[in-house]
Amino acid sequence: MLLDINELELHPLDFEEKFQPDVIDFGAEVRQRGPLSTSGRAEVVEEHHGKHEVIKDLRLRGRLSADLELQCARCLEPVPQHVDRDFDLLYRPLGADAGREEISVTDAEAEIGYYQGEGILLEDVLREQVLLALPLKITCRGDCKGLCPQCGKNLNQEQCSCSTAVEDPRWAALKDVRSRLEH
Ligand SMILES: [Zn+2]
Ligand SMILES: [Zn+2]
Repeated sequence: MLLDINELELHPLDFEEKFQPDVIDFGAEVRQRGPLSTSGRAEVVEEHHGKHEVIKDLRLRGRLSADLELQCARCLEPVPQHVDRDFDLLYRPLGADAGREEISVTDAEAEIGYYQGEGILLEDVLREQVLLALPLKITCRGDCKGLCPQCGKNLNQEQCSCSTAVEDPRWAALKDVRSRLEH
């Protein structure tokens, strides 16, 4: 859904949308389970720079909620994650800040994005907000045993027989040294 700056200039837009899985691409490691709901308001905010220049920013406020699934970093099993997030974002036309050091300094604390052309896609904003809300790395539980590096079995579910047969390379090296000393 395009948030069109020219339309928003005529009137703010209140939106309430649901996005089914696969409409928004969250990347290979995130799966969406069920629709993502979002509601909020988009509007144009005018910034007056000096006497003559008006910059049209796009302000987007709202909330989103979604059920997602990440992969456990150790055993790769799916780990459910619920995201509820409020956002209040400001997008400035790309290039509006060019050559304006004094303004960038004043705004340094605010998180500002940029839009190009007609406006921004709500889907792009939602993707970014969801990814920001998710942890970079997750484990299914604190003591997840992970996968056996030899046979790939999920060690939370079953023991495999290779664990004892596998030799730590450091021990192997030590043994090697010892056998050479003995001879
Ligand atoms: Zn796990
Ligand atoms: Zn194994």
